[in-house]
Amino acid sequence: MVVRLEDILEKVSLYQPEADLDIVKKAYVFSGMVHKGQTRVTGEPYLMHPLEVANILTTLKMDPDTVATGLLHDTVEDTHTTVEKIEEVFGADVALLVDGLTKISRISFDKKEDHEAENFRKILIAMARDIRVIIVKLADRLHNMRTLEPLRPDKRRKIARETMDIYAPIANRIGIGWVKAELEDLSFKYLEPEKYGRLVMMTERLGNERELYIDKVMGEIETKLSEYGIEGTITGRPKHLYGIYKKMEDQDIEFDKIHDLIGFRLIVDSVRDCYAALGIVHSAWRPVPGRFKDYIGIPKPNLYQSLHTTVIGPEGERMEIQIRTEEMHRVAEYGIAAHWMYKEGKAHDNQEGSAFAWLRQLLEWQKDLKDSGEFMDTVKVDLFPEEVFVFTPQGSVKELPVGASPIDFAYAIHTDIGHNCAGAKVDGRLVPLRHRLRNGNVVEIITSENHHPSKEWLNFVVTSKARTRIRHWLRDEEQRMSIALGRDICEQEFKKYDLVYARLIINGELESVAKKEFGLADIADLEMNIGFGKIPINTLLGKLLPPEKLEKMRDKKVSRFRSVLNRFKSKQKPQTGGVQVKGVDDDIMVRFARCCNPLPGDDIMGFISHGQGVAVHMSSCQNLLNVDPERRIDVEWQKDQDLTRPVKIRVECLNAKGLLAAMSDAINQSDSNVRSADIKTTPDGRAINIFEIEVKDTKHLKGVMKALLKIKKVTKVERIKV
Ligand code: MN
Repeated sequence: MVVRLEDILEKVSLYQPEADLDIVKKAYVFSGMVHKGQTRVTGEPYLMHPLEVANILTTLKMDPDTVATGLLHDTVEDTHTTVEKIEEVFGADVALLVDGLTKISRISFDKKEDHEAENFRKILIAMARDIRVIIVKLADRLHNMRTLEPLRPDKRRKIARETMDIYAPIANRIGIGWVKAELEDLSFKYLEPEKYGRLVMMTERLGNERELYIDKVMGEIETKLSEYGIEGTITGRPKHLYGIYKKMEDQDIEFDKIHDLIGFRLIVDSVRDCYAALGIVHSAWRPVPGRFKDYIGIPKPNLYQSLHTTVIGPEGERMEIQIRTEEMHRVAEYGIAAHWMYKEGKAHDNQEGSAFAWLRQLLEWQKDLKDSGEFMDTVKVDLFPEEVFVFTPQGSVKELPVGASPIDFAYAIHTDIGHNCAGAKVDGRLVPLRHRLRNGNVVEIITSENHHPSKEWLNFVVTSKARTRIRHWLRDEEQRMSIALGRDICEQEFKKYDLVYARLIINGELESVAKKEFGLADIADLEMNIGFGKIPINTLLGKLLPPEKLEKMRDKKVSRFRSVLNRFKSKQKPQTGGVQVKGVDDDIMVRFARCCNPLPGDDIMGFISHGQGVAVHMSSCQNLLNVDPERRIDVEWQKDQDLTRPVKIRVECLNAKGLLAAMSDAINQSDSNVRSADIKTTPDGRAINIFEIEVKDTKHLKGVMKALLKIKKVTKVERIKV
């Protein structure tokens, strides 16, 4: 329906009976005159737009000067009229408002980040001169958003983006709840048309069911309140669409949980009744812990007051209830605008003091602040108290929750940047990864292909994006490591039974065992289960070998991977085969390099292998020295470990009867035992014995070697390192 001047005048005189309406009438005539001949995109007369804006301002119960400004807001920008002319006809107050609006309309949002700060500064300065400027601007933007449809899609998106980024937050900050909600919904509609459409459809489909539910709950609340003699109005309605969308996104709520998407509001007579009503609600339905908020005791920065609670409702569903007084409700809906509502013939009282304090403060500060970046920093803290704005080195801005770390920032840019984040520079200085970012920081992420997410990151990231991506990676990594470990175990153990692992893969035998015997998807799945220790290696061997053969080998000692395997079995107490990776508490998978096979007591160094954890080598191992130094990592032996490790020694002796028994005795006497022995005789009457023995550490090994050397006819004992 088309708004007429009469409607506007009537509305003003309803909330402000003694108001002098002449200025509004005069503004209507003036605006009609100067906009004459101009049309909107739709072809309707341009005057429609200022009329609608003025009408929105009457909904906000603004004073006649502001309503007149609504009618005049585009005259200086779009016609030949000047501010001087406005001042001449309407006085200094209205001229100042129109001038402020003209200045805002000339701010170009075309250029991206580099100008954003300056734009904010200009808007804020215009606002701070008289906050009514921004209220008119919000009304203007609201009508433009309501009539966005005929514009070109790219233009629509641009305006919607700007509304979502700048005007909706401003409406929120000055507390005009319904304008904020409508601006968000309209922006959402043009920014995410598909998601918006789907949500509209779903809410409509649930219409009937929802109405019934709302009526039922409202009736129950009413009965309970009247039992205690408390009067109040109860409303129940769905949250605005964008609010629903955000809630679904943030909390992963399924849409069919519609009850969560409905808010009930109780408006009662006094603050005392608010708390009484809360008590009644809490005694009727069980409150959800942690959801009660007392914004009456502690109002929000935009002066919002209310009690919020969530209870388990009549159908076992979560039910959100807000309780407030009429006055609080007015502030919630109109925010700062509420302070212009006519009070006892006094157009402006100074009650708005605290609501304005932040804005005045800004105006004061901006004189001292050196550049617009600094200004923006301050403004954004105030407009978006829960967010920090940080920049990439190229100057594009990222919005993160307060407390965000460089890791959150890295994932906000790209998942791969997060996965390979090795370090971060903030404002040019290296910082720890758990550093908390602050407004205006320029953040540079250092990536390295060899760096990967760590469990520890989960202790300090705050964005759900970073959290889910890290978890995902860790889960994959654990699987990759288990597969590699499983394969290692299989190869080693199969060898002992003269089975060639690779051949079993090629001939399909292994795959068929995996599928038929264990019900697994493929070989990788089988290896993973072996790696995790879920399927004991002997169980697998049992499927491939006749029982006698398996039995024969059973006593033949423990796999040298057993200690690593044990770690997977007993998750509660991680064991790392007696090796500690320096500076990392996580139970990183450790395995011993086959090439040098270090023993406790040896100087060791770790090598980060792809997908197979850390391989521990002797510091002097040639293989280690040949690899990329970047991938070396400090490791050390854990103290007081009860593990034994296998080691090979080479013993030369004369080929004499009884000598083998003597050597075996000496080894046993030294608290060690022989795992395997390989004995060769030479033509010159000597014997070369290779023993694989188990020892605790190098000291233990030395003791064994000494004992062997004491035997007569033993000529040489040495440790085999490769
Ligand atoms: Mn306009």
